[in-house]
Amino acid sequence: MNVNQSAPPVPPFGQPQPVYPGYHQSSYGGQPGSTAAPTPYGAYNGPVPGYQQTPPPGMSRAPPSSGAPPASTAQAPGGQAAYGQFGQGDVQNGPSSTVQMQRLPGSQPFGSAPLVPVVSQPAVLQPYGPPPTSAQVTAQLAGMHISGAVAPVPPTSGLGYGPPTSLASASGSFPNSGLYGSYPQGQAQGHPGAQPPQRSVLPQASSFTPSASGGPRMPSMTGPLLPGQSFGGPPVSQPNHISSPPPQALTPGTQMSGPPGPPPPMHSSQQPGYQLQQNGSFGPARGPQPNYGSPYPGTATFGSQPGPPQPLPPKRLDPDAIPSPQLNELPPQQKTRHRIDPDAIPSPIQVIEDDRNNRGSEPFITGVRGQVPPLVTTNFLVKDQGNASPRYIRCTSYNIPCTSDMAKQAQVPLAAVIKPLARLPPEEASPYVVDHGESGPLRCNRCKAYMCPFMQFIEGGRRFQCCFCSCINDVPPQYFQHLDHTGKRVDAYDRPELSLGSYEFLATVDYCKNNKFPSPPAFIFMIDVSYNAIRSGLVRLLCEELKSLLDFLPREGGAEESAVRVGFVTYNKVLHFYNVKSSLAQPQMMVVSDVGDMFVPLLDGFLVNVNESRTVITSLLDQIPEMFADTRETETVFAPVIQAGMEALKAAECAGKLFLFHTSLPIAEAPGKLKNRDDRKLINTDKEKTLFQPQTGAYQTLAKECVAQGCCVDLFLFPNQYVDVATLSVVPQLTGGSVYKYACFQVENDQERFLSDLRRDVQKVVGFDAVMRVRTSTGIRAVDFFGAFYMSNTTDVELAGLDGDKTVTVEFKHDDRLNEESGALLQCALLYTSCAGQRRLRIHNLALNCCTQLADLYRNCETDTLINYMAKFAYRGVLNSPVKTVRDTLITQCAQILACYRKNCASPSSAGQLILPECMKLLPVYLNCVLKSDVLQPGAEVTTDDRAYVRLLVTSMDVAETNVFFYPRLLPLTKSPIENTTEPSAVRASEERLSNGDIYLLENGLNLFLWVGASVQQGVVQSLFGVSSFSQITSGLSVLPVLDNLLSKKVRGLIDGLRAQRSRYMKLIVVKQEDKLEMLFKHFLVEDKSLSGGASYVDFLCHMHKEIRQLLS
Ligand SMILES: [Zn+2]
Repeated sequence: MNVNQSAPPVPPFGQPQPVYPGYHQSSYGGQPGSTAAPTPYGAYNGPVPGYQQTPPPGMSRAPPSSGAPPASTAQAPGGQAAYGQFGQGDVQNGPSSTVQMQRLPGSQPFGSAPLVPVVSQPAVLQPYGPPPTSAQVTAQLAGMHISGAVAPVPPTSGLGYGPPTSLASASGSFPNSGLYGSYPQGQAQGHPGAQPPQRSVLPQASSFTPSASGGPRMPSMTGPLLPGQSFGGPPVSQPNHISSPPPQALTPGTQMSGPPGPPPPMHSSQQPGYQLQQNGSFGPARGPQPNYGSPYPGTATFGSQPGPPQPLPPKRLDPDAIPSPQLNELPPQQKTRHRIDPDAIPSPIQVIEDDRNNRGSEPFITGVRGQVPPLVTTNFLVKDQGNASPRYIRCTSYNIPCTSDMAKQAQVPLAAVIKPLARLPPEEASPYVVDHGESGPLRCNRCKAYMCPFMQFIEGGRRFQCCFCSCINDVPPQYFQHLDHTGKRVDAYDRPELSLGSYEFLATVDYCKNNKFPSPPAFIFMIDVSYNAIRSGLVRLLCEELKSLLDFLPREGGAEESAVRVGFVTYNKVLHFYNVKSSLAQPQMMVVSDVGDMFVPLLDGFLVNVNESRTVITSLLDQIPEMFADTRETETVFAPVIQAGMEALKAAECAGKLFLFHTSLPIAEAPGKLKNRDDRKLINTDKEKTLFQPQTGAYQTLAKECVAQGCCVDLFLFPNQYVDVATLSVVPQLTGGSVYKYACFQVENDQERFLSDLRRDVQKVVGFDAVMRVRTSTGIRAVDFFGAFYMSNTTDVELAGLDGDKTVTVEFKHDDRLNEESGALLQCALLYTSCAGQRRLRIHNLALNCCTQLADLYRNCETDTLINYMAKFAYRGVLNSPVKTVRDTLITQCAQILACYRKNCASPSSAGQLILPECMKLLPVYLNCVLKSDVLQPGAEVTTDDRAYVRLLVTSMDVAETNVFFYPRLLPLTKSPIENTTEPSAVRASEERLSNGDIYLLENGLNLFLWVGASVQQGVVQSLFGVSSFSQITSGLSVLPVLDNLLSKKVRGLIDGLRAQRSRYMKLIVVKQEDKLEMLFKHFLVEDKSLSGGASYVDFLCHMHKEIRQLLS
């Protein structure tokens, strides 16, 4: 494709041109054909040394992917003409001011806001500042293995970090404690009790005899829809149904570890008893340390054998692998009793609290290049002064190694997590919309980057040099402005695109499909009316809800009514379309039974304005539940439903969204028919990956067609058994849609959650028919993308729909040397159609530092973002590789990252010390959480659908969501005085931190538990539950009674607050201590050893230390 010939006046989005008209047709035909060819304009241009009017072939370092770049305006006649027509709208942003400031991109607020002096950063923000005294967090593991002075663990005191039985200790292995119902005697605790022996003397640390769990079988939980977390033994009739583990092994008399006393102080470091060491690290002095509480029984199943735990091969338990000089002097029996104080290892809680205290009070001002933002767990305001807010873009590191060799050495992935349409808090302004009229936004002629604060104006303002590719461009006359004595345009602060990190451009018709401005989008509601959907009450509930929900369709700005039109389809084995034209007295149904060749039987009257057709729509929604009330039809189709919705949008020439409400595996004879291929025996085999792969390619093909039409699919699943989420979610995933899953849906139990999700989903602002492109300055380029989207070439992320929750993670690699002085730039451009039908471009810019010293890289990393990337990388990896390989890869990479730091950045110290970079001290604990997550190490209770579902959800999560998903928040509710209205401080997610006299909330963004200790004061029980004793509390309760007292109000308020923070409704489950449901709850205590064999934090840290030592030796 010859780009020079085909470039339209303002080439849309740097895509192969002339393509907007046909970008979908040509792109989706099947094999990526011509459009799959490298992009002509090259996002990744090499530098052009100096200005070249016409770069001679071979001289300019053209983009690797392109032919000769259209470097000069003279070569782009269209563009030239466009500039010539520039006549209106070029001064949309008010008269130019005469602000004279040093050229410091974005250091000033846009518009007429008062000038703010460049803020000098507090010490903690200094990327190059001296490291804090705790810059190197160390835990001297060698010293942790000391146990000589510790008396044998009393059997009643819980299991500590390993089984207390002599059998277990002798072998050092974790006996088969992961299978429900198979706890050996003395192993009642699935999780190691995590109770250091010294705590056993605390008054509250009594042991509990599991009374409730002695029954033969647990009643199944009807309600709790725990994505990815259904519990229960082997599936019986309803694999997705949450039932409790058979507890028969918990024989009476088996000692459960009692809750320990009040949680110990949460300081990860600065433990009393540690001496600060010369290198800034600290750790216990060598020698017996009686305070170390937990035995270290050896390595668990770290990189291997996900799934039900198995006894470890003895070779993994070589005590010599554990650096402990004292070890060989110990009597054999004590060899495995290595002690590590959990308080001595880095604490997520402490890191989060420190960041809140240090950075939560001041706004984050984005004017300075390479600043690491506050953590996602810190509440802070953002002031855009030239770089995109961290709400839009977060990076794994804000200081990039200059060379690929350095990057390879460090193994720190370079990635950005981008949320282009992120919602902002009310205090922060939405991006300004810039209208350049017919000429459209100003772009670099060569790399097509959009005008931004980093473009350098030269020659008195008549030209500008592109900050991405160095090309020198003419400034169109209408855009001309004089420069001040510093070389900055005098109107810089009146133009968002010259002073802000994020802004929007109104797109011209050149950015529209078929060179036509788009119509407003449409929503089509497609409702399964088969037997299961009717019987569960879903159809009636949904129809009732839609009657009012249709008044809340998304609208733009101050629009009085939504521009979105709506349509309705019901289906089982056949499809029913409804004519709801406003002129009709009653809706009309049209049945299409030829599902093999789907067509839309009506155009006029199918997609309507809600207000105009309200009477007819209401009548339809009243009639649907009645019409199918007596259905016996159990079979459904699925692909034809999507096909029909897509065809309807195509016929209406608009983008839009399908809301599918579906209950079962589509086994009816039709395209996309599926069979039940669930097979848990594949777990831990090389074929496990097939469980995550779609069983037919038909949905992929369908998805391509949908993307071409701008048809986004949101899928609400209500399965009673296996529905093959991996296959059904293909279209939602590739079209930027969402999937919601409500296993064993019952109206009475699940309506609040479903309706809450539905309301949010229907109301949220969506961009349609979107294309996202990430441009970078010379030296790095985007090489890999993760998220819910489709790509037909290597650079353009295509999204039929994109909402404010969806995130795209982009990985960068070097293709040249970077320069410390110029740094590195990212520009994310999203072209989309707003919900009112306006075509827009949203631009986010971010400047990063570059370094020649590895220490600078490690000082400016963000572990939460790193984990977001690593989780997505791993979760995609399971599609193609055995899960064990994926896990091992993660562990190896983490070890390499930390070993590189140790070798190159840490001051010399004994090999027995584990030294972690300050910014990455939580990498081991968080990585362990990823490794033991349901996708990578499923427990026996996790279904195939659950795993596929969780995999899908994580793929689009932002950094805040992955953070709390992998390391849940555990909030003590009754520790602080009731009058205290501030949110309680979280405690570490370990059973050891629970006290049986207290109540805790646990949330991970999807699940919400209220854990009630068995010794909670009667008054508290009364206040919260309205019953007189602990035994009267209903286990599994999902709604707290509304009681008129301070505690009740406070707890309910807190729950509401947590729900409001999350993008999906979290259903509450009340868990009583020692109740059967507690097993479910303990799954989320991620610092403990998991039932599925996942390592405890302490064990994993030791393992990681061993891996690092091996790399260094
Ligand atoms: Zn350029």
